Amino acid sequence: MILEAARFPRDKVCGDCLNPAVWAILDRLGLSSAVRALPSTVPSTMRFSVSGHHELEIPIVSTTCSASSIEERIVRRRDFDALLAARACEMGAEFRDGSPVTTLRCHSGIWEVTLASGETYHARRIVAADGRNSVIARLQRHYSPRTKDGRIGIQAHIPHPSDYDGALAMRIYRNGYGGLADLGSGMANLCLVANKDSMKELRREAELYYRISTPVVWRSITPISRSQVLAPARNGIYLCGDAARVVEPFTGEGISYALRSGALLADILCTSGGLTSPPSSLQDRSYRLAHAQLYGRNLWINRLTRFLSEHPRIAHLTAPLLLRHPSLLSFLTKKVLNPKNSDVE
Ligand SMILES: Cc1cc2nc3c(=O)[nH]c(=O)nc-3n(C[C@H](O)[C@H](O)[C@H](O)COP(=O)(O)OP(=O)(O)OC[C@H]3O[C@@H](n4cnc5c(N)ncnc54)[C@H](O)[C@@H]3O)c2cc1C
Repeated sequence: MILEAARFPRDKVCGDCLNPAVWAILDRLGLSSAVRALPSTVPSTMRFSVSGHHELEIPIVSTTCSASSIEERIVRRRDFDALLAARACEMGAEFRDGSPVTTLRCHSGIWEVTLASGETYHARRIVAADGRNSVIARLQRHYSPRTKDGRIGIQAHIPHPSDYDGALAMRIYRNGYGGLADLGSGMANLCLVANKDSMKELRREAELYYRISTPVVWRSITPISRSQVLAPARNGIYLCGDAARVVEPFTGEGISYALRSGALLADILCTSGGLTSPPSSLQDRSYRLAHAQLYGRNLWINRLTRFLSEHPRIAHLTAPLLLRHPSLLSFLTKKVLNPKNSDVE
């Protein structure tokens, strides 16, 4: 059973970019063709810019594997997430949206989940995939006290700026950063990340830069980063995606890590002891190890962007240097967009 707080379909704060590493998981789920059939675009250019400096364009080359292309794709979360939920139902899950979980208790090895409506459900295992503000992780006291940074992310779907050519555009502003991605049909996704007290200024700067004159609906989310949970598996509670560990939005990898951690957990639960037996410490240990390995690799570029985002003055000083070294920027982009980052087959 999937208990989802929001009513589907719903938009959420996200850059709507699918990293090429997602296709291995979507293939397994039998969803690749359906995702490609959603209203979406495949950007061919990445444009980096720093306010007050020149910009740099890098071609995005899709990789080919078994005659099919493995591309970075922009697709609205509203559509993508609804497709995942529908697929889960096809595979036998019951999906209950508008069902926020509020409390969790354990009675003799069985978990009792209570919804805001007061309804309760019982289960041996709970998979908490409830995002960066995970209620389950909080109830389980998984976070260390220093859990939040002071940054906020905002997002809007806007009509194409007048001279927009569909490039995936990442821009470093004085107080933060932002990304613009083409959703097709004349619409684009604009995301901004900054400290809370600088966001108003950043939003004004971005609205001016993209010549946004009509009012747009901004959604917001905080925190942007948070310390990772200490044990993503404990006593039959398993944390996946942002609930277990949040990655910096700049590189557009959060969806791929969320899907890949879910796939790892599914493999472990289905093989080591199965789902019918009580949760075992072997399953807990296997998931903790696999989870640490998944996030242990390839995240150095993401960590670097987090450091720079948390220190906007340093970012604003160093980013122009990067613009002068296209080969370095091209190397970093290729690393982030490498589908081989996926180790789940
Ligand atoms: C500004 C910004 C831009 C980003 N851009 C990108 C990008 O372009 N590409 C990318 O890959 N990643 C991006 N990310 C990161 C990405 O959005 C997340 O990493 C990803 O959505 C994590 O997926 P998840 O399933 O773990 O959590 P979520 O996608 O957050 O899903 C959690 C779900 O749990 C539900 N929920 C929450 N609480 C409860 C509760 N109590 N009971 C029941 N249900 C609950 C929520 O309604 C939600 O549907 C961005 C993040 C930010 C902040």
